Amino acid sequence: MGRACTYVILGGGVAAGYAALEFVRRRGDAAPGELCIISEEAVAPYERPALSKGYLLPEGGARLPAFYTCVGANDQLLTPDWYKEHGVELILGTKIISADVRRKTLLASSGETISYKTLIVATGAQALKLEEFGGSGSDAENVCYLRNIEDADKLVFRMRSCPGGNAIVIGGGYIGMECAAALVANKIKVTIVFPGKHCMGRLFTPKIAEFYENYYTSKGVTFIKGTAVSSLEISSGKVTTAILRDGRRLPADMVVVGIGARANTALFEGQLVMEKGGIKVNGQMQTSDASVYAVGDVATFPVTLFGCDARRFEHVDCARRTARHAVAAALDPSGPAGDIDYLPFFYSRVFALSWRFYGDNAGEAVHFGDLGFSASSTPKFGAFWVSAAGRIAGAFLEGGSPEEYEAIAHAVRSGAAVPDVAQLAREGLAFVFRD
Ligand code: FAD
Ligand code: NDP
Repeated sequence: MGRACTYVILGGGVAAGYAALEFVRRRGDAAPGELCIISEEAVAPYERPALSKGYLLPEGGARLPAFYTCVGANDQLLTPDWYKEHGVELILGTKIISADVRRKTLLASSGETISYKTLIVATGAQALKLEEFGGSGSDAENVCYLRNIEDADKLVFRMRSCPGGNAIVIGGGYIGMECAAALVANKIKVTIVFPGKHCMGRLFTPKIAEFYENYYTSKGVTFIKGTAVSSLEISSGKVTTAILRDGRRLPADMVVVGIGARANTALFEGQLVMEKGGIKVNGQMQTSDASVYAVGDVATFPVTLFGCDARRFEHVDCARRTARHAVAAALDPSGPAGDIDYLPFFYSRVFALSWRFYGDNAGEAVHFGDLGFSASSTPKFGAFWVSAAGRIAGAFLEGGSPEEYEAIAHAVRSGAAVPDVAQLAREGLAFVFRD
């Protein structure tokens, strides 16, 4: 059994949706056998960030079709009909189990072989499991991960099954913090447990983290830091107690696990060059095989702004932009696409809070604004990271306006010079509005 398609997008997540739209915009409707998306998921590409935000609301939660790509970038809503109308074949509910880059073929679990001329790998990442850290209990009925709609449905079901109950959140990163806020909105008591000194250890400074921890605490969330859940006690298929390394026992009606993610590179190990946990690509998002491009969470690419240092990002803006860039390059390899010039951008929204980060959190952190938590005031604060060369390398802002976010992004992109760090600290946000 086999079929052929000129351009194959492997994976049906955020990057796939943006790649399809870019293809149609540049090339017009696809001809039969010209473009397909192969996805293990049963639904068309959607904006994954909705799963830890609107989807988990207790009332009026976001549901498809409202968050198909590409609404997250205020662009067209690509419903399944859109793909039909534009000749893009959606091959859903189909897992690719092996890839042969030399022969340019993919093998689906159904036994079908799909051959391509150009492949765009957009397989994203998967949640790390407790078992990978020597733990157990992932299969228990009330243990939830969050990567896809199926996971989100399980989480919603579990939240509704234990109103007023206790949730243990394992991990204080993006998933842990966003899910904790959703659990609170669903009137569930939350305890977050993680090994580090503060939440969001990969991005936040201790001072920034302190603000968010105080805010969450004011909403009734308990933080247990510097330790880990050593085991989960299970009865009749459900976790009843989480046991910490120090022996403490925490009652649990449900558990949410967010302990990191791993890029889905396995199909291409030994066939494509890998770097920093992802598939290495050049500035055109092209892998070590000229017929294969990689985009989104799975791609490690040179960031011009960081002196072409190779980086991999697990954030939606990166998935959107790298996908568009790869399509531009693949459709016209000798064309004007050039190398991607990416400004890293991450964000989150929880409770009434909203922050954005641009660039690299490397160098000296200079805070500004009022980082003290007060229940009565609307927070506005942030930090600049100043490189050894005395330039703004990264910027974080909570509670900014569109103009302020644009201004900090510009300061990072232009590498604004900081002649005097003390003055930057005094000026704070005003620094990016000088001139
Ligand atoms: P994905 O969107 O993960 O898509 C990968 C696709 O490939 C999936 O459809 C998967 O099923 C498919 N696939 C994988 N392997 C195979 C295979 N072998 N065969 C067939 N199909 C396969 N980022 C932000 O910047 N802001 C946010 O607020 C934010 N919120 C998030 C909330 C949640 C709950 C999650 C999980 C992530 C969030 N992110 C956020 C991160 C962002 O969603 C990802 O960076 C983005 O989805 C990456 O896009 P992608 O297309 O590379 O991968
Ligand atoms: P993160 O890497 O953000 O956070 C992992 C957390 O798990 C950290 O707090 C870490 O603690 C903790 N941890 C690591 N190992 C253990 C362990 N053995 N036991 C307990 N805790 C542990 O990953 P997430 O799972 O939160 O997110 C998964 C993916 O989803 C990422 O790709 C992320 O980018 C993406 N995402 C992005 C969002 C956004 O951009 N707004 C929102 C939601 C998801 P410590 O730091 O102390 O080691």
